[in-house]
Amino acid sequence: MTELRVLVVEDSEDDALLMLLQLRRGGYHIVHERVDTPDAMRAALTLPWDIVISDYTMPSFSGPAALSLFSETGLDCPFIVVTGTIGEESAVALMKMGVSDFVLKTNLPRLPGVVERELREADLRRAKRRAEEALRVSEERYKLAMQGANDGLWDWNIADDTVFFSSRWKSMLGYEMDEVGDSVDEWQNRLHPDEKQSFRIKLINHLKHLTPHFEIEHRMLHKTSGYRWMLTRGLAVYDDSGRAYRMAGSQTDITERKRTEEQLLHDAFHDGLTGLPNRALFTDLLGFALEHRQRNDSYLSAVLFINLERFRYVNDSFGHRIGDQYLIEVASRIKSVLRPGDVAARFAGDEYAILLDDLRDPAEATRFAEMLQTMIGHPLGLGGHEFFPGCNVGIVFSASGYHDPEDMLRDADTAMHRARKRGKRKMEVFDAAMHASAVTTLQLEHELRRAVERREFLVHYQPIVELTTGKLSSFEALIRWQKPDGKLVPPNDFIPLSEELGLIVDIGKQVLEMACQQMVMWQQQFPDHRMLPVSVNLSGKQFNQPDLVEEIESVIHSTGLSASHLKLEITETMLMENPESARQMLTRLREKNIKVLMDDFGTGYSSLSYLHRFPCDTLKIDGSFVRRITDEREGKEIVRIIVMLAHNLGMNVIAECVETEEHLGVLREFGCDLAQGYFFSRPLSASDATDLIQRNPSW
Ligand code: C2E
Ligand code: MG
Ligand code: MG
Repeated sequence: MTELRVLVVEDSEDDALLMLLQLRRGGYHIVHERVDTPDAMRAALTLPWDIVISDYTMPSFSGPAALSLFSETGLDCPFIVVTGTIGEESAVALMKMGVSDFVLKTNLPRLPGVVERELREADLRRAKRRAEEALRVSEERYKLAMQGANDGLWDWNIADDTVFFSSRWKSMLGYEMDEVGDSVDEWQNRLHPDEKQSFRIKLINHLKHLTPHFEIEHRMLHKTSGYRWMLTRGLAVYDDSGRAYRMAGSQTDITERKRTEEQLLHDAFHDGLTGLPNRALFTDLLGFALEHRQRNDSYLSAVLFINLERFRYVNDSFGHRIGDQYLIEVASRIKSVLRPGDVAARFAGDEYAILLDDLRDPAEATRFAEMLQTMIGHPLGLGGHEFFPGCNVGIVFSASGYHDPEDMLRDADTAMHRARKRGKRKMEVFDAAMHASAVTTLQLEHELRRAVERREFLVHYQPIVELTTGKLSSFEALIRWQKPDGKLVPPNDFIPLSEELGLIVDIGKQVLEMACQQMVMWQQQFPDHRMLPVSVNLSGKQFNQPDLVEEIESVIHSTGLSASHLKLEITETMLMENPESARQMLTRLREKNIKVLMDDFGTGYSSLSYLHRFPCDTLKIDGSFVRRITDEREGKEIVRIIVMLAHNLGMNVIAECVETEEHLGVLREFGCDLAQGYFFSRPLSASDATDLIQRNPSW
């Protein structure tokens, strides 16, 4: 039985005995000492130990403290921590301090196995050190002998099949001169199995005169440090009949070069920040998985497409250093939930993907996604700030008969977008309907781009009425898209996409031009009618254009409308996104005499008194409140209060979506100034609106 000298750092006598019992079962004859304070440990460390086994938490000591005492002594034996539980962070900290391994108390029977492995590795480490020492000495000798040549040399006598190996050749592999004989086996047996075949073939080809020289990169088994890469070159010497009878050459250690090459290869296929595979590698691996699927019908894999919520905000508001750490932490959370065989990759920015390999059933993937969302969702402290990461996940299964990994990724991406539309921390499994809708969106995108070029938009006009006099006060310009087949598409079906595609700026300009032109035409056609203003809706993207004011001015100028007859409708959210630049924009517009009104009031988050700080003197109560004023007490109260507060702050109020007499009654009662809605008129085409004005000259 091998004797094992164990130092046990453990406050509980019983626990210590339990551990030692396990070791005895593992076949060791145990000599031990138990310590549970720093002083006792310091004293014990003056004796030779084969292994230290330490508890993690103790009343007057701790695993990490014991480990750091141990490290100070420079002793070289395994240090194993036995613990009830251990969090990832503590585990990482211990690993950084050089702990050899952990064993959970609930899993003590593992202990002998771990000890045995650690002892073996410690032996190897010591042997390697000795070998390195020897190598240094032999290197010195070699230097003298070979005058600086760094290659190992060999000389193979084919006739009697013996090889002379130079001492450098041997030391390259970690051996002393007398440790390697002169048989060909000394060479053959150390070749890496993967290269044995090609080594043989190349050698034979050269011996047969088929190649001018012999050259191969291959691995050789080093005495202590595993395989090392070598470059072997050689030349045969032939007799008169053309038969090789001797061959000599060199061997160069190219491990470093190979490592650099591998590193470069690694870098080309990995994300530099998180070390995860990149999109290129992920796509390759997915390709292999799909091929596998084609050969094996029951094989099921899934791709998860993950998008972090609000990462832009973290990056922009807290800086790239924090942003980078955030991404690294998310990557490590993702890694921590992977099963063997799964692959995680970082694509771009805040996008990650996971390939779940060999699933038993689809539910396994959705369960995994839930767990992943929980894992990623833990609060994250960085640089003194606390973040609450969240992600949306799109899932797609290989079962749908994919051949091209790009197709599968595209669909996972579509599903992710669908999840994101539904809100925060959602997941969505891709299905055929989604594909159809993605195709539709793509089609729509295509058509919309064409529509902008061909100016396929129309403007409808909805009257806004003054409640005290019942007179027409202005028109709101509402866009419609008239497709080539004549169908009218309402704005909610294409404005969001045009915002996403950035087309809205062009579209908005077209609306502005049409509305201003129309107003000028009416003024010319009905010179006796009062001059009516028109209000035009702006999207957030337009409002953020730095040259918005210049653009509007140029439209006003070219159409000949006076600025005071143009109003712009914006929403609270546009102000809230960047209050300071919004205020500047509003001020510049006011200087040009262009009024701005607040549309859809009540749907955002701002308060009236806050809004009052912006130069904006009219607000339009959102239709959703107006519709509720006759059926709900609360709806009614909200509208009453908005009207009252707005008046107190000197603002005008428009109610939209006024559909019934009752709506109108309540609004009158509250003293609301203006209203628009189906009750008065639906939005009208330009020619219908012209008729309306013509029929009501005094309206
Ligand atoms: P919005 O600016 O709040 O416009 C009012 C919407 O309510 C219009 O819908 C209008 O037709 C509808 N409406 C008017 N009266 C009633 C009523 O009594 N009952 C009901 N149920 N609805 C009524 P529309 O024309 O479909 O426009 C929807 C939204 O699209 C607009 O909401 C506006 O945000 C946006 N939009 C319209 N034209 C443009 C534009 O030229 N540019 C931009 N950026 N957005 C526009
Ligand atoms: Mg509007
Ligand atoms: Mg509105």
